Amino acid sequence: MQLPSRDLPFEVPQYSLTGDVLSFQRCGLQYRYYNRSSLPPSRPVQLWTGEFVHGVMEEAFLYWQLHQPSFPWPCTQTPWRGFSTSPNRVDYDLGVLGDQVEARLRASGKTPRNRNARDAAYRRVDAAIRLLAPHLFPLITAVEEKLSSTRPMPAVNAPPGQQPRGDRFELTGIVDVISSVSLAAQQNNPLVQMINSQIPGLSGQFDIIVDYKAARRPPITPPPNSKAYWQHEAWQVQTYAWLRAQQPNTNPVRAGILIYVNELSPSQSDLNDLKREITQDITDIFPASGSPDYYALNTWQSGQSQSLPTFTTDFLLQRAVRIVPVDTAAIDQAVTQIDNVISQIEGCALHENATGNIPNNWNADGGASDCDACDFRRFCPSPAQYRGSGQTPPPPVAPG
Ligand code: SF4
Repeated sequence: MQLPSRDLPFEVPQYSLTGDVLSFQRCGLQYRYYNRSSLPPSRPVQLWTGEFVHGVMEEAFLYWQLHQPSFPWPCTQTPWRGFSTSPNRVDYDLGVLGDQVEARLRASGKTPRNRNARDAAYRRVDAAIRLLAPHLFPLITAVEEKLSSTRPMPAVNAPPGQQPRGDRFELTGIVDVISSVSLAAQQNNPLVQMINSQIPGLSGQFDIIVDYKAARRPPITPPPNSKAYWQHEAWQVQTYAWLRAQQPNTNPVRAGILIYVNELSPSQSDLNDLKREITQDITDIFPASGSPDYYALNTWQSGQSQSLPTFTTDFLLQRAVRIVPVDTAAIDQAVTQIDNVISQIEGCALHENATGNIPNNWNADGGASDCDACDFRRFCPSPAQYRGSGQTPPPPVAPG
């Protein structure tokens, strides 16, 4: 019989850098409904896709570490809402690994939005294992390392009579780690060459942290009606570095690698976004004029029946891999920004608590693409398409 443990005599609110901080930065009201409600979201597509990609990459790495089957690996996906019709799948078939991860996610109420979202996720982990894993897996020294530490609760704009929930809050995150020892041993590895070219002069003992994003590479300058994801994700990595520095016996983190998995198998809309960002001069990685990738992109026409262009592996890796330098000044700036976000979340929660009103106390400020995919857009007071237009969103209509 398990005895119940006694709660701490004080409260330490816990915040995940991905699940809370990045989600709140995406949209305050959506964060409130998805993350702070006791009901699970009906269609947590970003949640499912992100966790599926992380889960399959972890399972694949653990299998590779033990058995080292050569790449590429087969990907015989179990049919949508069906059972595998391929009894001879090997243990490391991405369909088998995907089944295990999907079962875990299903058990916690997370399912893909639809067949297309699931197919896209499998297509992307397949591309990640083919194009990235042969270079990344030999470098990784620790997988899914859990990070956690507390920070003083920042000043909170609390309503009269309300106090922040504690003197400190806890920040958490999960990362993979690469040590400088494995970098030094693999100077011909294309990822090592990317790190060395972007952060020259790295020396001594240090670590690099790795995080996967089930998303495309964001533009370095946000277009109108979008959020500064480029900056937010850099702050996240730099705060991971701060968290890791709080653990005993760890080397300093000198860089983060963000892997934008969608870039390894871009969709039509990803390519349309890329073309627009090149025209607006707001992306940092684009094909050199006259190169095969340039012609592949510029001769491609968007459309239902159009096949997607074929890019070189080098171009796909350049788009997928972002190196974020980490130093003391960057970490200080990042944790200050994260403190600001925690202060805003705590303030919103206290004002909601004082008034009982949700939409008036959480900013409905998602970007256009977030609103398009948001479960709450039908009753949101300020979806992106109406914000600032002077028009009022139509009232929600009950089905039937
Ligand atoms: S519709 Fe847009 S602004 Fe409204 S809650 Fe959803 S993401 Fe936020």
